[in-house]
Amino acid sequence: MLKRELNFIGETPLLYLVATPIGNLSEFSPRAIETLKTMDYVACEDTRNTGLLLQHFSIRVPLISCHEHNEETAADKILSLLKDGKKIAYASDAGYPVISDPGARLAKRVLEAGYKVSVINGPSACLCALVGSGLPADHFYFYGFLDSKPSARKKELSRLVSFPDTMIFYEAPHRIKATLKDMVNTFGQDREATLCRELTKTHEEYLRGTLGELASVDAETLLGEMVIVVRGKPETPSEVTEDTILEALGTALQTMPSKEAIKSVSQNLAVPKNRVYDLYLECFKKN
Ligand code: SAM
Repeated sequence: MLKRELNFIGETPLLYLVATPIGNLSEFSPRAIETLKTMDYVACEDTRNTGLLLQHFSIRVPLISCHEHNEETAADKILSLLKDGKKIAYASDAGYPVISDPGARLAKRVLEAGYKVSVINGPSACLCALVGSGLPADHFYFYGFLDSKPSARKKELSRLVSFPDTMIFYEAPHRIKATLKDMVNTFGQDREATLCRELTKTHEEYLRGTLGELASVDAETLLGEMVIVVRGKPETPSEVTEDTILEALGTALQTMPSKEAIKSVSQNLAVPKNRVYDLYLECFKKN
């Protein structure tokens, strides 16, 4: 049944979902700080991390631990505090709770119990990366983390091979090399992409190029937190000219055998393999 809620009118208790900085502490909003100062409790993913953040902003409020592994029991406790009329906020370690972080189950339980939730906006690595990527942002798809197991990751990527809009992936530094390699094998080495590293921090860096170029970057230099933004599948095959195919093929043949190059160009430009093969025979094959 449809429910309409005016968040700040009426007596119903409310849980604040508070976004926190993804690096640069100056991005903690005045509204977030003011809200947290007035809370009876702040529930959080990691009491040590959030404790340090609150200490930095002179916010003295008792903390409640609520992470991936205790979210349901922590939700019981938070619900009983809301019932007693206590003011409570929830924060994850960085960025928005819920977005590749705990908080979704808590919010669902709070709503199901008839209480309200309100979001205090702030930074998110996903939007920051998209905006800085230089890739189309009219439509985009936030994927979050791919599976850590190689076979499952490849399957997930293969489902996205024809996706037309920009895609945003989170990745950990120890898996970045393997993930970029899988992306090259799935989307093709010429697919445009931006790797956004250490956003809002001193070593913030954007690496803009193709997946093939990103995959060949020395892994030792890809440290810290990172987001990969990948352009969607290029437009319809009819728009792809011979020159475009020949150029892509020429580049691909520099780094891979002909069979692989033909497959990669065909996938990446979304043109039939035999069209690429015919051009290969005509222009590249040595007799
Ligand atoms: N809740 C967060 C948000 O709203 O963006 C995401 C948390 S998720 C556990 C952590 C991942 O977000 C990292 O592995 C990385 O992919 C991305 N991330 C977080 N902070 C980042 C930063 N400063 N620069 C680049 N990526 C970041």
